[in-house]
Amino acid sequence: MKIRVLTLFPQMFEGTLGSSILQRAREKGLLDIDCLNIRDYADNKHKKVDDYPYGGGAGMVMTPQPIFSCYEAVQRELQLEGRPRTIYLSPKGKVFNQNLASELAQEEALIFICGHYEGIDQRVIDQLVTDEISIGDYVLTGGEIPAMVMIDAVSRMIPGVLSQEESYQEESFYSGLLEYPHYTRPKDFNGLQVPEVLMSGNHKNIDTWRRKKSLEITMERRPDLIDGLELTKLDKKLIEEINREAEK
Ligand code: SAM
Repeated sequence: MKIRVLTLFPQMFEGTLGSSILQRAREKGLLDIDCLNIRDYADNKHKKVDDYPYGGGAGMVMTPQPIFSCYEAVQRELQLEGRPRTIYLSPKGKVFNQNLASELAQEEALIFICGHYEGIDQRVIDQLVTDEISIGDYVLTGGEIPAMVMIDAVSRMIPGVLSQEESYQEESFYSGLLEYPHYTRPKDFNGLQVPEVLMSGNHKNIDTWRRKKSLEITMERRPDLIDGLELTKLDKKLIEEINREAEK
């Protein structure tokens, strides 16, 4: 997948994109990521990229010309047939989730536009943006951290990015539930024991225990997720058990 990020602060991405699983995916050629500095495309003498808002009010707005020019340079470089999914990170956008991450992971290319100050001129959104996406109901200073969050979540769903051991199928949200708890060695840590069933070697019992824990945690923390789920016969039985135990 080709990812291009339009930002005023490309240096912010170096640590995230140059470490761990994302760096490995780049080395394997699964991810081709480039961060472009919008300021380099400003055609005024002082490389100014923001201006006062029409109509007055606090803060500055990112001007359209440098973003349009930067975007056109990316389009020339990528030479795609259609218009690539172009994401503007914005608190006003649709809230990002795992389903959207899976959907975006199917794309050949993604372009991210990071806002700063009060945001970007609306004409950029109207002409270039296909998706306005928020990472949650709070306001950050810029779109860089949200872009990194999205790139991380999308990249790990691209086949080959995670190894077999790191597989995402069991993880929170993928199956519609939150994930069960994990334990590793030692068996006894300062008197705190690992649940017996996990050391039993009985995979059927382990799977049932994990499913029950997933259901229990999801019912407690995110009952809204259970509402949207198609429950199996086993799930229903486990939910009954959980409810009975809670009544005791
Ligand atoms: N004036 C904007 C508003 O009230 O909606 C907020 C601008 S914010 C200070 C600056 C930039 O940070 C935005 O243009 C956007 O790119 C990014 N940003 C802030 N919060 C975000 C969020 N929750 N999700 C995605 N992007 C966000």
